[in-house]
Amino acid sequence: MGRWTGHTTRALLALALAAAATGCTAGRDAAEPADGEARRSHGKAGSNGFVVQYRTGGRAATATDYLRAQRILDAAADRLNATVKVPQRIPFVVRSCGAAEPAYDPETGTIDFCAEHVDEIRDRFRQAGPGPDRPGGTAAADAHVAAVLEETAYHESAHALIDRLGLRFTGREEDVADQFAAVLLIGQGRAGERKARAAADDYALAAAETPFDAADLRDEHSLDGQRAANYACYVYGAHPDRHEDLVGRDARLDAERAEGCADEWAQARGGWRQLLTEHLKRPL
Ligand SMILES: [Zn+2]
Repeated sequence: MGRWTGHTTRALLALALAAAATGCTAGRDAAEPADGEARRSHGKAGSNGFVVQYRTGGRAATATDYLRAQRILDAAADRLNATVKVPQRIPFVVRSCGAAEPAYDPETGTIDFCAEHVDEIRDRFRQAGPGPDRPGGTAAADAHVAAVLEETAYHESAHALIDRLGLRFTGREEDVADQFAAVLLIGQGRAGERKARAAADDYALAAAETPFDAADLRDEHSLDGQRAANYACYVYGAHPDRHEDLVGRDARLDAERAEGCADEWAQARGGWRQLLTEHLKRPL
């Protein structure tokens, strides 16, 4: 089963369904933290745009410390704010979500960034170990984890932008959100291309972990294996000369798909440029 942003195990899905917390943007109870939980915001008090709030303590402590130390969300918020003008304040709230997944909540206008998601991604790459795509072992795995969490941040921020800016488009919102993440990552150049490839790796690992079944066909997200291929296609389409290894037998893309990836990438980036035309501070 696909996570909302991509990586839910079936068990987690069942729990999430039980908690009526499905999907990235599904209306759901915003489980507010207990009084007195520590918070720290990144960004000027009262400023608009994306900010980061760390709700420390309890089960979220390790993941929160990791996110804070790596500045993953702070850097993502900075990049988003440098790119898009948003009239509202949109907090990433780092906290324990229980069975729920990271999600933008249109009721509160906040993005819940779940400690459990951080743990899941870290566990996945730890178990996968250094492979052909991950020379360098631990350091490369850490970079992969950071890249996937950055991708999650951009994916969820796309839901927030769609809601807050009233963006209208065709096609499935979850795919459109992945495209936004790809645009934000690949736009960073070679380092960002590596991040998009890490996202593809993670979706492929998630797909291998939990083979899909009929229920997944009814989900609002594309299948994890498809999302892996999509990210690979955008990276390859942006710079075919640098990512030839993504195409071929047993690679992320077959030759037929790869042929259209330059166009797919141009459509994805062009689409978001058009959607955000009046809101951009700098070119996408
Ligand atoms: Zn989503």
